[in-house]
Amino acid sequence: MDPAKRASVGARSETQLEEQVKDWLRYGEDLGLGPYYRDRPPLHAIAESAAAPQTVATSSAIPTAVPAAMTAAAAGRAPASSINVAASASQKSPAAAILPATAPSLFESIERIACDTLPRIREDIGDCARCKLHKGRTKIVFGTGNPSADLMFVGEGPGRDEDLSGEPFVGRAGKLLTDMIKAMGLQREDVYIANVVKCRPPENRLPEKDEITTCSPFLMRQIDAIKPKVICTLGSCSAQTLLQTAQGISKLRGEWFDFRGAKLMPTYHPAYLLRNPGAKPEVWKDLQKVMAVLGLQPKKR
Ligand code: URA
Repeated sequence: MDPAKRASVGARSETQLEEQVKDWLRYGEDLGLGPYYRDRPPLHAIAESAAAPQTVATSSAIPTAVPAAMTAAAAGRAPASSINVAASASQKSPAAAILPATAPSLFESIERIACDTLPRIREDIGDCARCKLHKGRTKIVFGTGNPSADLMFVGEGPGRDEDLSGEPFVGRAGKLLTDMIKAMGLQREDVYIANVVKCRPPENRLPEKDEITTCSPFLMRQIDAIKPKVICTLGSCSAQTLLQTAQGISKLRGEWFDFRGAKLMPTYHPAYLLRNPGAKPEVWKDLQKVMAVLGLQPKKR
């Protein structure tokens, strides 16, 4: 290549690179990461706090019968578990075994924002128009509950009732979730409830990949700010998003995973239970594992 042409190609790729870097910076700014780079503690401090052991109480005296609160059944939305199952059907193993050793989960590798808070995260979301879901939404459904909850539930995305009220899980599936929480001996206010995407997908379809990629960093920040001991993911979307796997929910549920210092238990979505009440005993088993870790006793009848 003649030197003049080579110089012009070199200049063009430098401009492209500069544009790419600017795009990344804008994206980071949109996600509210700017303050992190200003305020973050030294990396060794982050590593030490992530490595600190957690102590949790355990309880063995938990009955196996499905509580009455969870047995009322009604017809509901289609099951959320329609994403392809890529991994082997017999595999029931921790996330570390699902993920290739050379490729840590996107989320495991995101550093924590020092002293992040829920109000700050909500402020960073603002009147969001980062993805196409904003076009059809009435209200952003940020999340509700105890900001320092030991237990956090993560659903998929708001439905019609949530979109109108701005609160997660207030429709029929939400009522079943509330019953599940009560059966565990807790109130809704004791736990924190959030979703992978904060705006309602049209016709309650599954959130699409670009929507999840855009919105889930805010969920990550919520998890980091709340620091729950246990995260219970509801349905395939939230389990697959947090664990960065294509494994189906029926293979993931009931197994413990480590997730950024918390224990993560995937279980079925309450909307799935409304259509498949026969799956309730399995969910109750999953919830009992959560209760054992948190030292909870089931609600007395
Ligand atoms: N389903 C979800 O996944 N989240 C909600 O908030 C409501 C229904």
